[in-house]
Amino acid sequence: MSLSEITARMSKAAEKAGRSMHELSLIAVSKVQPDARVKAVLDEGHRIFGENKVQEAAGKWPEFREHYTGIKLHLIGPLQTNKTKQAMQLADAIHTVDRPKLANTIARHAQDLGSCPDLFIQVNTGEEQQKAGVLPAEADAFIAEVRALDLPLKGLMCIPPVDEEPSLHFALLAKIAARNDLTDLSMGMSSDFESAIALGATHIRVGSAIFGERVYG
Ligand SMILES: *Cc1c(COP(=O)(O)O)cnc(C)c1O
Repeated sequence: MSLSEITARMSKAAEKAGRSMHELSLIAVSKVQPDARVKAVLDEGHRIFGENKVQEAAGKWPEFREHYTGIKLHLIGPLQTNKTKQAMQLADAIHTVDRPKLANTIARHAQDLGSCPDLFIQVNTGEEQQKAGVLPAEADAFIAEVRALDLPLKGLMCIPPVDEEPSLHFALLAKIAARNDLTDLSMGMSSDFESAIALGATHIRVGSAIFGERVYG
């Protein structure tokens, strides 16, 4: 699907929900994609991208940044504490703050670096064992903890379980955000971004619908 088809679908979903396109950021998730595909999307003028691995992001984005201005990079994958500083130097936003140790490490590096990416707390809305994120019941306390560190917390992020209706998870995430006065919601992927927009998403993370299927090899 082309970038313009995606934005047309976003616009339609926004209109239906009585929302404005200005509230929405389309994060083009470029993980694993060949550089030529990423370059094609850059050449179309898109500037907001997502990666889920620090190593992979470090291997391609510094060079893209030499050739294109205004790139915003969002880290949307699990973050190890020993890669935190590198992640903060590379990314404009980190969507996966999910534990006190990581929040404390970010706070410490924010002091040395004198800056900090925008932060999202990942919530494990499906309470899945294998998935990162704070449990819904622990979200309010963790949000307060991150705020006490004086970090630029913008919102919440979730990845719904593959076999469940995503809208229930989007609604839960929106509810937790609203009661904590957080405005930004990172939710919705290729298969469900329209429903995420209907439920208040501000950042949708779309990979395969833009770039084609990922080929792991
Ligand atoms: C890969 C990935 C996406 C994009 O998934 P698609 O189904 O290809 O749109 C979105 N969010 C996260 C956290 C991802 O890792």
